[in-house]
Amino acid sequence: MNDPISIQFLGAARCVTGSKFLLRTSSSATLVDCGLFQGLKELRLRNWVPFPVPPKEIDQVILTHAHIDHTGYLPRLHKEGFDGPVYCTPSTAELLSLLLPDCGHLQEEDACYAAPLFTADDGRETLRLLRPVDFARRVELGNGLAFTYHPTGHILGAGSLEIQIGATRLWFSGDLGRYHDEVMNPPAAGIKADYIFVESTYGNRPHPDTDVSAGLAEVINRTAKRAGAVVIPAFAIGRTQTMLYHIRRLEDSGRIPRLPVFIDSPMAVDASALYCKFGREANLKLDLTMTSDDCCTLRCHETHFVQSVEDSKRINDLGKPAIIIAASGMAAGGRVVHHLANRLPDKRNTVLFVGFQAEGTRGRALLDGAKELKIYGAFVPVKAEVVSISGLSAHGDQRDLMRWLSGFRHAPRQVFLVHGEEEGLNGLSKQIRERLRWPTHIPAYLERAELAPD
Ligand SMILES: [Zn+2]
Repeated sequence: MNDPISIQFLGAARCVTGSKFLLRTSSSATLVDCGLFQGLKELRLRNWVPFPVPPKEIDQVILTHAHIDHTGYLPRLHKEGFDGPVYCTPSTAELLSLLLPDCGHLQEEDACYAAPLFTADDGRETLRLLRPVDFARRVELGNGLAFTYHPTGHILGAGSLEIQIGATRLWFSGDLGRYHDEVMNPPAAGIKADYIFVESTYGNRPHPDTDVSAGLAEVINRTAKRAGAVVIPAFAIGRTQTMLYHIRRLEDSGRIPRLPVFIDSPMAVDASALYCKFGREANLKLDLTMTSDDCCTLRCHETHFVQSVEDSKRINDLGKPAIIIAASGMAAGGRVVHHLANRLPDKRNTVLFVGFQAEGTRGRALLDGAKELKIYGAFVPVKAEVVSISGLSAHGDQRDLMRWLSGFRHAPRQVFLVHGEEEGLNGLSKQIRERLRWPTHIPAYLERAELAPD
C-alpha cells in the first residue's frame, strides 16, 4: 500500500500538555491522545481554538493512558461533533470514569468565560464512546490500519502504541515509566518502527539517586516524635498509591510507628480500589489483587478511606500523630487546602511534597519559604516544617528514555520528540543523534509532517 500518511502535532509539541496527534491517510483520520492544555494561560487558551478538522470527520481516537493532559479534551471533542470509538486499555477506561466527570466539574468551577469548556455531564456522556482493548491484542481498524498496546509502567493502564498503516510502522511512546520502580513494571521494549514519537519530559537529565524510603521514614519519625501530623499533597491517581505502598513497607519493617493514615480524596479512594481490581495488569509490578476486605499492599495498618466532607473535616480534631494524604498534588485546590489551613500554623506538623510544584501554586510558594499563605481569603502563618522528597516521578529520566529507544532493533527513519520543554527536548535529541545516530526532529505546535509510506 502506498497511501500517503501525514501527522499533525496538535499538542505536546514543545510543551508537556495537550497531547494530540492527528494521523491521516487518504481514507482515515485518527487522533492519538486527546489531551487538555494545562498550566500557563497562553497554553490553556489553545483549548478554545477551533479544532483544525471538523471533529465529526475523525474516525477514531486511540488513547495511551488516562492522565488529563492525554485525555481531558475528549468531552470537548465529543461536544463539537466527534462520535466515533475511543480505544483505551480496560483500566484506563475505568480511571476515565473517575477523571472525565471530575475534569468537567473543575472546568465548571473555574470557567473564566461565559461557559465552561465542558461540564461534568459532558465528561460522563463521553464515557460511552470508550472501547477497552487489552494489552498486546492487535486491533484491525480496516483500510490496512491496526494498533497494539504495549505496557509502559507510568500509571495503571498506561501503554505505548504501535500503529501499523499498510507496511509502515509508527510507535508512540505515550508517557514512559521507569525501569526501577517499586509499584510499576518497567516499560516493555519497542520492536520495529519506521517512525518513533517519544516523550521527552526528563530528556535532559537523570533523576537524583535518592533513597525515597529512608527520606520518608526520617520525616515521619521526626514529626511523630513532635506529636504532629504529616500532610502529603498528592495526585489521587498514581502518586497516592505509591505513597501508600512505601508507608506500608516502612510499617512492616518497623522503621516507622503504625500511625493512622487518612486517604482524604474520594477519587484517590476509588483509584486505589482500581489498582487492586487490576492488580495483575501488565504494567503493574505488584500483584495487588484484592482477596478480602483488607485489600492488598496498598493499605497501611490503620488506613482510613475518607469519602464525605464531614469526615474530612473531622480529621482536624484528631489530636495525635497521623499521616494525611490528600489532593491536589500542588495544593492548588482540593481537600488538602483545608488541611493546610488547619495544620500550617502549628510547628509540630510537617507538609511533605512528593511531586513537582509548578510556578504560581501554593506548593511552590511553601517550598520557596513563604512565611504566610493566603487560604480562603485569610492569611495563614506557616509554622509547620515544609519538606520535599524527590525521586518519586512516574516518568522515566534520560537514562530510561534512552534505554527504551535502544530496545528497537532497527534504526527508524525519524524520531519525533514530543511532550517536553526546551531543555528536555534538546537534551534527548542530542543523546539520540550522538549515541544512536538516528535522525531527530522537534515539531512545533500545529506543524504537519508527511510520512513516507513503506
Ligand atoms: Zn502521564
